[in-house]
Amino acid sequence: MHLKQTFPGVFIFLVSTLWASVAPAQWLNDEQAIMGTSVRVELWSDNKTEGRLVIAQVMAEMRRIDRLMSPFKADSALTKINNFAGSRPVKIGQELMNLIDKSLSISKKTKGAFDITFASAGFMYDFRQKKHPSKASLKQLLPSINYRHIQLNRSKQTIFFKDKNVKIDLGGIAKGYAVDLGIAILKKNNIQYGIVTAGGDSRILGDRKGRPWFVGIRDPRNRQGLVAKLPMRNEAISTSGDYERFFEENGVRYHHIISPKTGKSVGYMRSATVLGPDATTTDALSTSVFVLGARKGLNLINNMPKFEAVIIDNQGTMMYSNGFENLPPTDRSGAK
Ligand code: ADP
Ligand code: MG
Repeated sequence: MHLKQTFPGVFIFLVSTLWASVAPAQWLNDEQAIMGTSVRVELWSDNKTEGRLVIAQVMAEMRRIDRLMSPFKADSALTKINNFAGSRPVKIGQELMNLIDKSLSISKKTKGAFDITFASAGFMYDFRQKKHPSKASLKQLLPSINYRHIQLNRSKQTIFFKDKNVKIDLGGIAKGYAVDLGIAILKKNNIQYGIVTAGGDSRILGDRKGRPWFVGIRDPRNRQGLVAKLPMRNEAISTSGDYERFFEENGVRYHHIISPKTGKSVGYMRSATVLGPDATTTDALSTSVFVLGARKGLNLINNMPKFEAVIIDNQGTMMYSNGFENLPPTDRSGAK
């Protein structure tokens, strides 16, 4: 019995050590559909088996975040909040508490352009089914869009909504947060070079072995085209666009970035890209800059030393933050 158990173990150990010694160091990658988007991990690993395990850990972490934060899953913690926090304080874990707290601080910084309570009316949009709220329901729900309705109690670990119709959605920040967790897993496993991407949010660890990593900004009106390719190392980049989830009705483009002031899709922008040290912040800021529009959005980013932005307005005009103007995009890699 004892022998039977140990033999396969020893055998697997011998085979895997042998394999590791012959398997060359290499780039490994995987792509999976998680969080309603495409998650991609690419990394350089000295050992194929270990590298694959690290990628699997990142994918598992993304699934965990989805189970916790999805507004579409009936048993997620977020759904529980939306069902009950309008009537009583709801207990939440440290992780959700921290991310909601971070969302609130970005709401303050952006004067309410970023607001997770957009979902109070936002839940009535369904871009696949081509549904949007009626004028009457928007009017009724608009007062419930206001991040000040959210009350977090740190000592009791609870969340409460002061208005019973409030709903929240972390779609503007959760993917960036998941990307940061992915990079933390890479670091913990001593990976030196890699990229983790979830939809429009990416973060790069190191570089592409001595060369910068080039990340493209999509042309908002041409699926195949790019408007820029930015060389990056050790940095995060997020793009919010009006072309990911949208439909058109009577000449109006309904898409997933909602102005908290009107409850309607923002009409004056096509895309907003933000670069910075971490993906949680660049994700929330790309959504914020999109809502703020070119002038206010660039002003916000120009006052944040470690962040840069590239904006395309509804005329197709491209605008950059100050860091890009002083520094041609191709020189960025050497600067950081
Ligand atoms: P994606 O990577 O999904 O394209 P974005 O970073 O562009 O995401 O953010 C869009 C998502 O942010 C929407 O799907 C929605 O969940 C959420 N959102 C929309 N408007 C706002 C807003 N004003 N404030 C905060 N979150 C928003
Ligand atoms: Mg975002």
